[in-house]
Amino acid sequence: MASQTAAIDLPAGAIRQHLIDPALCIRCDTCESACTTGAITNDSVNYVVNAEICNGCLDCLPGCPTGAIDNWLPVARAYSVAEQYGWTELPPPLELGLAAAVPSPAGRGAPASAALARENIFTREHPLLAEVVESLRLTVAESPSEIRHVVLDAGADFPFLEGQSVGIIPPGADAQGRPHIMRLYSVASPRTGEAGVAGRIALTVKRVLEDHEGAPHVGVCSNFVCGLRAGGKVEVVGPYGASFLMPDDPAANLLMIATGTGIAPMRAMLERRLGRAGPGRQALFYGGRTPGELPYHAELAALAQGFLDLNLAFSRVPGQRKQYVQQLLGLRHELVAQMLVDGNSYIYLCGLKGMEAGVLEAFAAICAQHGLPWDKIGAELKAAGRLHIETY
Ligand SMILES: Cc1cc2nc3c(=O)[nH]c(=O)nc-3n(C[C@H](O)[C@H](O)[C@H](O)COP(=O)(O)OP(=O)(O)OC[C@H]3O[C@@H](n4cnc5c(N)ncnc54)[C@H](O)[C@@H]3O)c2cc1C
Repeated sequence: MASQTAAIDLPAGAIRQHLIDPALCIRCDTCESACTTGAITNDSVNYVVNAEICNGCLDCLPGCPTGAIDNWLPVARAYSVAEQYGWTELPPPLELGLAAAVPSPAGRGAPASAALARENIFTREHPLLAEVVESLRLTVAESPSEIRHVVLDAGADFPFLEGQSVGIIPPGADAQGRPHIMRLYSVASPRTGEAGVAGRIALTVKRVLEDHEGAPHVGVCSNFVCGLRAGGKVEVVGPYGASFLMPDDPAANLLMIATGTGIAPMRAMLERRLGRAGPGRQALFYGGRTPGELPYHAELAALAQGFLDLNLAFSRVPGQRKQYVQQLLGLRHELVAQMLVDGNSYIYLCGLKGMEAGVLEAFAAICAQHGLPWDKIGAELKAAGRLHIETY
């Protein structure tokens, strides 16, 4: 049913319905996976909430990278699933004379000391036209994997924080003739701007040439962005993300785990901490195929001189045994166990979806090894905004 839980301030007869904004939704499936009641479904175009089933638990909120799901709208009657499938944007919330979406009562789980993230400053209707300042290939030329460092000049009106993402609207339309949906890319620069230049945002973008099963697939947006060169223009929306943020506390420890382009938010956070490092430690577990295919490898190696506890795993170095980040975590189990139980440690996990289960299993195994209750620790970490997972 459409929940009445927050109905105190609503006019008689009104209800609040949980709705997903199709203009903000990037179809990442996080909400449907998190929904325990089966209220959220998709028709491969839109994700929708069945008001008959939704129990208002809000389990789907924290994982949503754009806040598309964060709409708890006052409505005169519940919109049906069939109606929602037909939407390209939310209907204006004017039926009851009420002005705008109501913020979620649950909040979105950022560290308590994080700076306040601003979101949705630029929208599909009003995107920012950013100029490409430079585009550098990060992976070695002989690698089949092309990952690029693309720097955009977004100007002074696009404030962002480390851990947030920007939305890119690729030009053109999909097979049905609808404008392409936006794709998200994590900001790889600190809030002060790439290389200290305010307004400049670096992105770390992998050119997608096959799907996750290895079949050929030319990714729409990644190929557009990787094809851009200095002087090129791109429509940018956002910023997005209000939970995958860093604590503003030099005494806090950061435990960062990344694969491939998942390094982008970690780079931003590390750069933010450089020069303002306190007693808190920074440990990074980072995996890729070979050193030549690891974005920012040399930069990170330089940070390892006294600032960063750097742990690298390579899965395709000829003549060497394959190693993955979860195995590295096991090798450093004492450090990881310490970080997991330290109330001032913050854990960040970013990269391909495939890594998530293995890393969480590694945490569980390390806890078992140290006689610690992972279920309880994991739940506490999440509740306190100290465990952040962004996989795609
Ligand atoms: C919060 C968030 C942050 C992200 N940050 C980054 C980032 O920093 N750098 C980055 O390169 N990407 C990032 N992504 C992924 C990015 O948004 C796009 O999904 C990706 O670039 C593919 O888009 P596309 O239009 O090229 O492919 P599409 O045409 O949309 O095709 C998508 C299909 O490509 C396949 N695929 C293969 N590799 C990937 C991959 N790496 N990511 C997604 N789909 C893949 C899958 O089968 C998928 O179904 C992020 C996603 C999220 C949700």
